[in-house]
Amino acid sequence: MTANTELAELAGIAATCVRCPLSATRTTVVFGTGSPDADMMFIGEAPGFHEDQQGEPFVGAAGKLLDQLLAEIGLKREEVYIANVLKCRPPGNRDPRPEEIEECKGYLRRQLELVDPKVVITLGNFATKLLLKRDVGITKLRGQVFPWWNRRLIPTFHPAAALRGGERVLAQMRADLAVARAVLDESSPDGAAEGDGEQLGLFG
Ligand code: URA
Repeated sequence: MTANTELAELAGIAATCVRCPLSATRTTVVFGTGSPDADMMFIGEAPGFHEDQQGEPFVGAAGKLLDQLLAEIGLKREEVYIANVLKCRPPGNRDPRPEEIEECKGYLRRQLELVDPKVVITLGNFATKLLLKRDVGITKLRGQVFPWWNRRLIPTFHPAAALRGGERVLAQMRADLAVARAVLDESSPDGAAEGDGEQLGLFG
């Protein structure tokens, strides 16, 4: 089965998921979007109002900013893969709860295995803590390149934080994405990452 077929199958399973109480309040499951062959994968926190309505990640104001920042490093949203830690919107956009992350993380793990990106960019604290397993805030970790399951992981701010934080945060996010672009350009051009096909033991 190709990665594309398996991702579509998994999205179908997620669409009727009732593993946590968010299934009772969501409008749509927001599985993920983009190229199944992407070299760069972005991981956000959870769908907000607009994402919940439309079924696609990062389509609200934060998403517009993400699209702009992607364009600045020469990429379109269709060329990367975008997913969230949680696939369903927490009511009122509250923070994800540990038990929700626990129930949902299997979807993200499989997405990471199937897309098998060379560079993973975590957007904000929740995605960074889940993948890096470090209880250190995003301000300290951002912009660093971490070896991660034979790939590279680069944490940066959540675009919503850049919208709130103004020019300084935005400039830092720009710098982090420029690092990610450079890491991608340095990686092997044959399309096969070292970790190809590797089963990720991440998330325990
Ligand atoms: N914030 C996120 O973390 N993800 C989205 O999809 C939208 C906003």
